[in-house]
Amino acid sequence: MALFLMLMGPQGAGKGVQAREFSRGLNAPHVSPESELQSPRPHVSTGNLFRAMRQREDALAREVQATMAAGHLIDDALTNQVLRDRLEQEDVQAGAVLDGYPRNQVQAKFLDEYLEQRGNRLDAVILLELDLFKAFRRSYGRITAADGRSFNIYGQDEGVEWEFVEHPQHEYPPRLKARLRESGEALIRRPDDAHAHAIIQRIELFLAEVEELVAYYEVRGILKRVDAAQSVNKVTIDIAHAVTEIIERDLAELTPHR
Ligand code: AMP
Repeated sequence: MALFLMLMGPQGAGKGVQAREFSRGLNAPHVSPESELQSPRPHVSTGNLFRAMRQREDALAREVQATMAAGHLIDDALTNQVLRDRLEQEDVQAGAVLDGYPRNQVQAKFLDEYLEQRGNRLDAVILLELDLFKAFRRSYGRITAADGRSFNIYGQDEGVEWEFVEHPQHEYPPRLKARLRESGEALIRRPDDAHAHAIIQRIELFLAEVEELVAYYEVRGILKRVDAAQSVNKVTIDIAHAVTEIIERDLAELTPHR
């Protein structure tokens, strides 16, 4: 069975982390052996697809980078085309975990029509709910080690030494300097996370987008809310339960009663 999931949530809600969990296929005690969630479903992020265009030199790719850097959305026609091209590929014929798409009703309708004409549909939409102050701190405080381990100066900083270093002439905001206490390895902050204003702008953009999408999917009964402030593991479990509930309900509706 094809299975298309969509993850929605503000920056810092853990969409990427969760999408990666589901893209590997959930082989965990809380997922039944027959569950559809055990099969790998690739992570399809339009943000990642657009970021990958950085390697290109053509005018379209340059325009996309400029739009992203300004914190604006790419126009719907181009976004829909990029998404459709990705969903035409072999590895996503049995479904995908969508992240960052759709962002508005025009895209949501496009997705519905596209999936319908290939005999599929969007099965479940998960809204990862997170207090906006926490969303901000998760992004602004995030630092990572070379091996991919992630830390946060606001509460997840065991074994980490960090400080904000003032710019000598105070022309720029203070810079976060962090390292692992034991090895001395410097920890890296993603450039996107270093600008408080840009983070707030992205959170505001999310708030502006989310309402119409929630309304769109809620009437269809395929939207479930999950508390994203919990541990990564617990969030994965809650998403798995939510998706299973939706799939089982849909199957029950399809099965004729005797
Ligand atoms: P994201 O990684 O999802 O936060 O996306 C990063 C940037 O890519 C956004 O700020 C937009 O400029 C662009 N982008 C990603 N997905 C979409 C979409 N569905 N519609 C329009 N623009 C998008």
